[in-house]
Amino acid sequence: MDSLTAGSAAASFCASTIVAVWNLGLPSREGDRTKHTAYPLTMRAAARGPVRLLQSGPMSSRYSRAILAGAAFAGLFVAYTQQPPAVDLTVTKLFDDLHVIVGSGGNVAVYETADGAILVDDKFEKDVPQILAKAKSVTSKPIRYLLNTHQHGDHTGGNAKLMAENVEIVAHENARVNMEDRKMPGLPRLSFSHEFGVRLGGKLVRSRHFGRAHTNGDAVVYFPRRKTVHMGDMFVAGAPFVDYSSGGSGVDWPRTIDGVLRWDFDTVIPGHGPIMKRAELVQWKQSFERLREELLTKKKAGGLREDAEKALDLAAFPGWGKGSAWRSFAPFWDELK
Ligand SMILES: [Zn+2]
Repeated sequence: MDSLTAGSAAASFCASTIVAVWNLGLPSREGDRTKHTAYPLTMRAAARGPVRLLQSGPMSSRYSRAILAGAAFAGLFVAYTQQPPAVDLTVTKLFDDLHVIVGSGGNVAVYETADGAILVDDKFEKDVPQILAKAKSVTSKPIRYLLNTHQHGDHTGGNAKLMAENVEIVAHENARVNMEDRKMPGLPRLSFSHEFGVRLGGKLVRSRHFGRAHTNGDAVVYFPRRKTVHMGDMFVAGAPFVDYSSGGSGVDWPRTIDGVLRWDFDTVIPGHGPIMKRAELVQWKQSFERLREELLTKKKAGGLREDAEKALDLAAFPGWGKGSAWRSFAPFWDELK
């Protein structure tokens, strides 16, 4: 599949709306583990109670709080081996059998079936005790499977500990390769190139790779009965981060989301941030497309990257935040053809 770009300082950033938002600097393929420091951030932004699923108003207010949190973190690093301070996790109920554990790293989905529970992502290693406790509070079934949406350490940090609890972990092949290259713990034993289906207790969960986006190994998890998807960091509150060092592509990204949109779903669990609806994902994707077209036009007209970057106004792209600081700008500009 896609080859990895040998970035010098591979970094994975996941904008987050949680009390503490963490950016994650993963070591490069050469094992560079320098300059990783944890930066706690106290934002009251999104430590909110149950998500108002029926809320259908403009996403600006929810986004703006979320984006403030995400933007404040641009450029900060924490190694996946390091443990940020403990953050209390909270549980949001989407359906009787589908919950989301929010806080610390990426959003964790817990799906109950008669024969066991299926998790999506597992935050940082230090979050595992809380993840287990929260899962237990919403299901009496043991956790049988864990589906990783991509390799970043705020989504796979609990892998090793959960494997020790006899949880079978599944990821896209490229995500697994990325983990292996970076010597990350908890390598999944099961991997797939296109789609992986888990049938448990009469329910089906599908994890599919639609193409390059946040990384080259993104998987979107679909709960057909609940018309819900977990997007991983292919969709977050705020501007996207394209991890070029992990084979990501900002040019492909909107097209990749188009593939997801062929599924029948209403509810969207983003990698970070509040629960969204399908229309918000569509709008966010359209922002991405418009930015791509506008920048490409400038580039083809001989415009300079520096000028284009200075002129960037994120507020003009719904769901992307404010200001002009988009940390994927330079490599995205270079990718445009
Ligand atoms: Zn990520």
